[in-house]
Amino acid sequence: MSDLFIGVDLGGTNIKAGLVDREGALVNKVSIPTEANLGRERILENICAAARQAAGDTPLGDIDAVGIGSPGPLDHVTGVVFRSPNLKDWTNVPLAEEVTKRLGVTTFVDNDANVACWGEYWVGAGKGCSTVVLMTLGTGIGGGIILDNRIWRGSTGAGAEIGHMVVVADGEKCGCGGIGCLEVYASAPATVRRFVRMISGGRDSSLASAVAEGGEITASMIYEAACAGDETAKEALEETGRYLGVGVTTIANVIDPEAVLFSGGLAGAADILLPVIRAEVRKRALEPVTENLTIALGALPNDAGVIGAAGCAMDRLGSDG
Ligand SMILES: [Zn+2]
Repeated sequence: MSDLFIGVDLGGTNIKAGLVDREGALVNKVSIPTEANLGRERILENICAAARQAAGDTPLGDIDAVGIGSPGPLDHVTGVVFRSPNLKDWTNVPLAEEVTKRLGVTTFVDNDANVACWGEYWVGAGKGCSTVVLMTLGTGIGGGIILDNRIWRGSTGAGAEIGHMVVVADGEKCGCGGIGCLEVYASAPATVRRFVRMISGGRDSSLASAVAEGGEITASMIYEAACAGDETAKEALEETGRYLGVGVTTIANVIDPEAVLFSGGLAGAADILLPVIRAEVRKRALEPVTENLTIALGALPNDAGVIGAAGCAMDRLGSDG
C-alpha cells in the first residue's frame, strides 16, 4: 500500500479524476469527456480510463481505494446509483461493484455534493472545523453537510437538500413539487428571472435592450453588468443574497455549524453576494450561533469533488474494513 487514493468526480459533461495522498494533496489530475449520451458501458469505461490516467505511473495495485462522487439518488453502502437524468441508460447501476471489478481496487461511491463538502472539510475552507455546510450555487442549489465530523445523509440518504428548504411559505412552485424552496429564489435561473421581471417592470439597465429583444440573459451577464455599475443588476443579485442569507440563518440556527461555504458558478458573484448574506445572517440568526460562524467561499473551487471523493474512500476504508 502506498497511501494513495483515487478520487473521481462524475459529472454530466466531464469526469475528473485525481491521485490524492493521505494528507489530501492532489498529486495528479485529469479530466476526460463523460460521453454521457453513449450509455452505461461507455460511461463506466470512461470512469475507469480517467482513474487509470490519474494513477499515472503508480500501479493500480498500489492504490488503496477509489472514491467516486456521483450524482444521485444512490445507496452509498452498496454503491448502487438508482438514476441520474444526465447520464444515458443509467438506472440501478452497481457503480462501486463495476469499478471495483474493472480496476481491481476497492471502490466507494457517495453523493457528489457530500464528497465536495468532505473535500472542503478535510483540506479546504472548512479544515479544522467539525461541522461544515457546503452550498453549491448554480442551475440548482445543492448541498452537503458534515455534522460532528461525519457526512450527514439522513435516515433515507436523501437529506442535505439545502436548495429545497422552504424560505417563503406561500411562495413560487419549485421543480421538486414543493412551494417556496430556496432554489426558486436564489439559484442562477432565479436571479435571471428576477432581473428580467425588474426590467419588464420598467427598471433601466445596460441589459434592457437585450431583455427586450428576447436574447439570452445569464447570471454571469448580470454579475458583469453589476460590476460595471448597473444598479438594477446589482439589486437583482443582492436580492438573491438576501434569500441565501435567510436560508443560511435557518441552517445556522438548526445545526450551529462553524462554516457555511459556497461553491458553483453563481459563487463567482461572491463579492456581491457574501456581504449581503453575512449581513442578513447577523441580523436574523441567534447570537451564539453567529459568533462562531464563518460564511465564505470554498477554497477548492475545481477540486473539492475529486479530493473529497478520495478522502471519503480513505475514511470509509478505515471504518468499513
Ligand atoms: Zn424544491
